[in-house]
Amino acid sequence: MLLREGRGVPIRGDEVKTARAATGIYIHVPFCVSRCTYCDFFSTVPEDDAIKAAYGARVIALLERELGTVRSGDLVSLYLGGGSPSTMPPSFFTALGAALRNAGIAVPAIEFTVEANPADLSARSLDLFAAIGVNRLSLGVQAADDAVLAAMGRRATRATLKKILPTAREKFGDLSYDIIYGFGKRPRDLTAELAWLFDLAAPDHLSAYCYTRPHRRGAPPVASEDTVVEEEEAIARSLTARRFSRYEVSNWSRRGFESVHNRLYWSWDRYIGIGAGAHGFEPRDGIRYRYPDSVAAFIRRPSPIVERLPRETLMREFVMLALRTAEGVPLDKFSKIFGISFSELLSPVTRARFLDTGYATLSATRLRATRSGFSFLNTLTAALFDDIERHERVHAG
Ligand code: SF4
Repeated sequence: MLLREGRGVPIRGDEVKTARAATGIYIHVPFCVSRCTYCDFFSTVPEDDAIKAAYGARVIALLERELGTVRSGDLVSLYLGGGSPSTMPPSFFTALGAALRNAGIAVPAIEFTVEANPADLSARSLDLFAAIGVNRLSLGVQAADDAVLAAMGRRATRATLKKILPTAREKFGDLSYDIIYGFGKRPRDLTAELAWLFDLAAPDHLSAYCYTRPHRRGAPPVASEDTVVEEEEAIARSLTARRFSRYEVSNWSRRGFESVHNRLYWSWDRYIGIGAGAHGFEPRDGIRYRYPDSVAAFIRRPSPIVERLPRETLMREFVMLALRTAEGVPLDKFSKIFGISFSELLSPVTRARFLDTGYATLSATRLRATRSGFSFLNTLTAALFDDIERHERVHAG
């Protein structure tokens, strides 16, 4: 984002200010053909194609400006998410490819992901993505059971998946599927669903999200707690047997296929947000910003809301995001950014509840949740928040 206000430095460490910054760009495409029953993302069903054309033109103009702010070699990822980016017209993708070329971006050197709804895809659209340099395809598969797909309001069926997944597999060297579990009351066999998908076209990466019921009438119910645990275990068993590692709470991959873009979020790196509802983060200033959830406002005048977060909030975010990963909290980075030793924060109660019981480990370099600790991540995070608050209160002033 092109910040108009002065660059303050609420967090300390000159090395942090001047170090080269791995940077990602996230483009939000808030358009869908229809709304899924479980959806809680910002997306709309546009009335006509002119809206998409105007939105796409704004996105490209902003992307061109933002690319001018990224130092050569710092850009590590470009991610088109939504919504359903695959509903955008071919001319949008062609313009996107031209913007990257004109800015001199070595596209093969970055992770370039497009999220797509399998129902929108054809061999032709996949070829277009590949032609502009997309090298990672993330498919919203969600389920491989027609009754579940129907209850979710998905447009794709097993027949759709059968047709498009092998083609996608052929054309992309890095393929990811999203799956939702804990959804609805109907019994579901996740082991069989995953086996079917892997036999059809094995992905390299899989994100498994536990369903959270949106706050609106008519939204499908969540599964019982026992079912959620059973489905989680079925996913873990299936993926472990296929040599996938759980490198973040919701993310699994084959070795070497961890998402570069998602890692930026968890590792406190810079990401630029473009589009209605998109978020960005400038770690050296501790600034987060977001564009309002309004397509019309974004087309009229894209104007992000900027928030300079208090130090305690930044500390919490740093810990919460890093704890979600298998690597855990990097103690050295924490102390460089915030100027305090992490072990100073840890209360005897937190140590006794989580370290002594094997839910977390503390080495000279990292605090990590163990495999069993991943199931209690919210409790561990809450305990660390209390420790941070206590530390900041005691050391205030
Ligand atoms: S396709 Fe994705 S963004 Fe669109 S309604 Fe369905 S879940 Fe929401």
